[in-house]
Amino acid sequence: MVLMSAWRKERLRGWDGPGLLARSRATFGWSCDEVRLGRPPDDPGLGYPARMPRPLSRKIPLAELHCHLGGAVTPAIMWGIAHSQGIKLPTKDYWEFRDMITVSPRRNRSFDGYLQLFHWTELIQSSPLAVERSVYEVVGGAYRKNNVTTMELRFNPMKRNRGGEQDLDHIIAAAVRGMDKASLEYPVKPGLIFCLDRAFPFELNEIIVEKAIAWHDRGVVGVDIAGPEATTFRVADYRRLFRRARQFGLGLTVHTGESGPVEEVARVVELLEPDRIGHGVKAAYDPRAMAMIRDRGIVLEICPTSNLNTRVVSGWDEFRWIFDTFRRNEVRFTINTDGPEMLKTYIRDELAQLGRLGILSVADQELAAATALAASFVPNVSDVPAPRLQPASRVAVEREEA
Ligand SMILES: [Zn+2]
Repeated sequence: MVLMSAWRKERLRGWDGPGLLARSRATFGWSCDEVRLGRPPDDPGLGYPARMPRPLSRKIPLAELHCHLGGAVTPAIMWGIAHSQGIKLPTKDYWEFRDMITVSPRRNRSFDGYLQLFHWTELIQSSPLAVERSVYEVVGGAYRKNNVTTMELRFNPMKRNRGGEQDLDHIIAAAVRGMDKASLEYPVKPGLIFCLDRAFPFELNEIIVEKAIAWHDRGVVGVDIAGPEATTFRVADYRRLFRRARQFGLGLTVHTGESGPVEEVARVVELLEPDRIGHGVKAAYDPRAMAMIRDRGIVLEICPTSNLNTRVVSGWDEFRWIFDTFRRNEVRFTINTDGPEMLKTYIRDELAQLGRLGILSVADQELAAATALAASFVPNVSDVPAPRLQPASRVAVEREEA
């Protein structure tokens, strides 16, 4: 039996693609004509050559469901936080520091290489002040730059407390303060997801879940399993713990179908019954896993640039096949970044690239955006009021903030 909270079940009911898209357009004030034309009236579609697909309207609010705090803060802000705390960095050169915490074409792309980028960002974020500022900056920045109104930020609180030197509750309370502060300034609905770590012993991961339960009514909305592949990790060990998290109303997501074996996806679905799956791209190679994902209404959190960087996916051609396979098998998916600053990409960049390559049509992109809002662990994400004026372009926003 698949257990699910009542409100989540309600949202998943009748979740047909076209219906969801039409409801989403109606929610954000599109008229019948706009729905028919597939574009709002102030976007006549003339600004691009006939064969260049238009990008998704900036008016459409986005939900980022898969974003690690360690990869989401701009290098300049990380630099400032590191200095304000007197952290001894391995370089005094800003550009070297920037290179140290972001992907670079000079370095070999690999899964382990990507995880190593988190070493310094997690260390710098390991204090209440640093966590509060990081969360606040990420949530506000995502709204200003990309009209992201729902930001689900995930992190492992035990990788922010300097090995037990800092109190876990102080770190969590600081993240909640960061969210609250951003929510007072902007019409956003953020939420926190706590990441368990595959390389951690069960007892530590259990503490993280208990903290998520304890802070659930303060904006912690879900739990996740992340981290490097580890021989000690067994999916079955987490069955009871995940059931407990669900009973307390937490959303469940798990990194799988990424760097690990294809067969793990079906095992995770069977044993942990997640609401969503982080990445899951390898499920495209397993018809049984896809059937389980479809039948249980599980939503994939796909992060294309991240998968290319870690070499989990070989290139855009493979992605074209993966997305075609998911569409054919009615597997629902969303588009995310994994870490916008570390990977130097935003959701709108991801969607635009998929549009330019003809992998996702504009209607597909809108459906992915609507699916993300519907699959968010944060309640009532569609209640956010639309901006009264057209949001400025990202280039303009970035110039003003420089
Ligand atoms: Zn991730």
